[in-house]
Amino acid sequence: MSTEGVAVTLVVAMDGPSGSGKSSVSRGVARALGLRYLDTGAMYRAVTWWMLQQGVDLADPAAIAVRAKEPELGVGTDPDEPAIAVDGHDVRGPIRSQEVTAAVSAVSAVPEVRARLVALQREIIEASGGIVVEGRDIGTVVSPDAPTKVYLTASADARAARRSAEVAGTTVEAQRAALERRDALDSTRKADPLAKAADAVELDTTALTLDEVIAAVLDLVKERASS
Ligand code: C5P
Repeated sequence: MSTEGVAVTLVVAMDGPSGSGKSSVSRGVARALGLRYLDTGAMYRAVTWWMLQQGVDLADPAAIAVRAKEPELGVGTDPDEPAIAVDGHDVRGPIRSQEVTAAVSAVSAVPEVRARLVALQREIIEASGGIVVEGRDIGTVVSPDAPTKVYLTASADARAARRSAEVAGTTVEAQRAALERRDALDSTRKADPLAKAADAVELDTTALTLDEVIAAVLDLVKERASS
């Protein structure tokens, strides 16, 4: 895409609460359009994993803030195999543990952590040549000029059912309580809370299949590209 000779990176911003289907939809859209893919939640999870490893007191935002610049992240953008490493360790598995999931909102609420990760996300987007980016603040903060912004939602029951199918040894009720707790923390924090951008298109995925949601987003990208 270009505007008056200036190259513009195609960015699809995909925000929404936990379990709304952002990852599967983002990867599907990136594959269909031959774009890169960035999972910003994995970056917050990776920093959280590192803080836990280091024994940082996660109840103390100041303790998190002073260490925020230390972990070295390695972030891949292949939609088929999105790599994530910290200080050279592959953390794709560990960042999905219940321990990290329960702790991540405390770490992501710290402004020093956000400032560092948002800067890194912008660098990755700029170098990508076209990318689908999923998170909580992509359309509002990380990439406010993205031509396509989607805000995915789904009922709490549907989101909990999807998550409990992904996580072994858990119930729908436990997942629902965990999701609601995390969404409350993510939407009420002061720094860059989960929010729908004014110009984002909201898509309720409760009654849709994955393919239907991907098709709806692809239509939206085409519509925005031609307008
Ligand atoms: O998307 P995922 O559930 O992996 O995100 C994990 C956590 O990372 C979220 O609950 C939120 O606290 C944080 N996050 C964020 N901003 C983003 C992406 C994720 O604060 N852009």
